Amino acid sequence: VSEHVLVIGIDGVRWDTLLSEATPHLDSLAIRGFAAPVRVNDDGPTISGPAWATIVTGALPSRHGILGNDFHGHHLAEFPDVVSLARDQRPELASWVGAAWLPLVSEDSGGPMFAGGGWFPEGPQAHTGDDWEMADAAVTAACAAFLTEHDGSQGSLVLCYLGGVDEVGHHHGVGELYRDFVRRSDARVGALLSAVAARDGEDWTVLVVTDHGHVDAGGHGGDSVEERTAWIIAAGPAVPTVAPEKLEQADIAGHIWKVFGLQGPDGAIGTALGARR
Ligand SMILES: [Zn+2]
Repeated sequence: VSEHVLVIGIDGVRWDTLLSEATPHLDSLAIRGFAAPVRVNDDGPTISGPAWATIVTGALPSRHGILGNDFHGHHLAEFPDVVSLARDQRPELASWVGAAWLPLVSEDSGGPMFAGGGWFPEGPQAHTGDDWEMADAAVTAACAAFLTEHDGSQGSLVLCYLGGVDEVGHHHGVGELYRDFVRRSDARVGALLSAVAARDGEDWTVLVVTDHGHVDAGGHGGDSVEERTAWIIAAGPAVPTVAPEKLEQADIAGHIWKVFGLQGPDGAIGTALGARR
């Protein structure tokens, strides 16, 4: 039996917005598994770089060393991203990473966070909602193509990052356009879930996660409840069907270690979903 994991990262989606908007594809996952808020660990700020690094390394910012959106000085050699860890310990796995935020997948700003880099759209870093709309559409299409075409006979680990919601939050606050982008991201989740569902005979784990919230006027980095409250939606063979009482963002990496039998680094805190005590 081979294992298959799809991680979808959606940057900067407030938990209360997620609850108030119609997100049928995310709801379908939550019904099969769970949806739960997660506090961004107080070890780090509510900033994208540190939070995503915690999500994909299973370690807190004081260990992985990413404290802002410039990744220079990181400790990713000691606390590698979960895709690189999987490629090292389970080289037979099919794996793919895609993102239009360049520090995740390229040498921009001291990256890549994913040591092997990843797929990104041609052209400069997106900086407007319109740019991000096109960039997220391109990443989703590329991810769906990989999901459809890859040889999963030895297992699959796929990660897709969507950044448009956060961008419009910064520029416009958490109003109608922000809510619209949350709904568009749900539609992209739906496209990826369809690509997974079309594969025969495979039982996929799907993990959807955000990195932080936003203040009402747009922006994050502070300690308000709105900024500190992130969330996880997960479903799959080893995922609990009620929300675990204790969760950390690092448990995304921790769950992937468990699914693939990977050994996470000493000093990391990630644990399988539902196993945290
Ligand atoms: Zn972010």
